[in-house]
Amino acid sequence: MNVGQTIENLIRRPLAVLKWEANKLGKKHKCYICGRTFHAFYPYRSDSDSASPFWEELNMIGMAIDDWGCFFCNSSDRERHLFMFFDKLNLWQEFTQAHVLHFAPERNLYPRIRQMKTAQYVMGDLYPSSDEISRIDVTDIQFPDDSFDFVICNHVLEHVPNDGKGMREIFRVLREGGKAILQTPYSSILGKTFEDANINTDELRIRFYGETTHVRLYGLDLFERLEESGFQLNVVKNDELYSRNECDYYSVEYEEDLILVSKPGVGFHES
Ligand SMILES: [Zn+2]
Repeated sequence: MNVGQTIENLIRRPLAVLKWEANKLGKKHKCYICGRTFHAFYPYRSDSDSASPFWEELNMIGMAIDDWGCFFCNSSDRERHLFMFFDKLNLWQEFTQAHVLHFAPERNLYPRIRQMKTAQYVMGDLYPSSDEISRIDVTDIQFPDDSFDFVICNHVLEHVPNDGKGMREIFRVLREGGKAILQTPYSSILGKTFEDANINTDELRIRFYGETTHVRLYGLDLFERLEESGFQLNVVKNDELYSRNECDYYSVEYEEDLILVSKPGVGFHES
């Protein structure tokens, strides 16, 4: 390390500490999960300024990148929003004595669900990050038909190449009357889902899909495709539950509704 770098580090470190302390003193935002208040959440990517104008212009829902993560509990906007939906709709109690399948379980959400004394709680991921999580491919779920009362699949389908098979698999393992949460980013002005095999590099996927691991950009036909998979749509409008000010305060997307679906059947009752 040369003298210039040493001096730069001597300045940069105290500045970073000062910035962090100032952020903690702020009251502009509150994390809905851990309850801490501060000036700003951290952005999804440090280079969020370079976000693709392509998908920004398509009025993407579920793709907020600014004010994204909580410095204290690391919750993301999509995780905080589920807490808010679950509180407002009293969905927590539906997990009690229920068989629950949770894909890509969020770190703050799964301990809370566990507290609800489920009958069975299966956490799954194609690439499990711990021994508690089973290796489950959403397009080939290793459980019999009608196994679960509730499936949580929050921001997963946009990563799955054969998403139609994934939708049908979730439908298959749900019992009649069972519910699933299938949040995914989508464009609110694009009619048709956009997907092209030639968009096959990280750079192109970020430009057109918003993320290197996304394989498509859903349009409004997402909802028709869910219905074609057999689901009944029970989408819950966010603006009927939370005001724009509340959403800004907790930094969740005002336009993002809860994509709640159910498997109709004899035992089905609308809630
Ligand atoms: Zn937090």
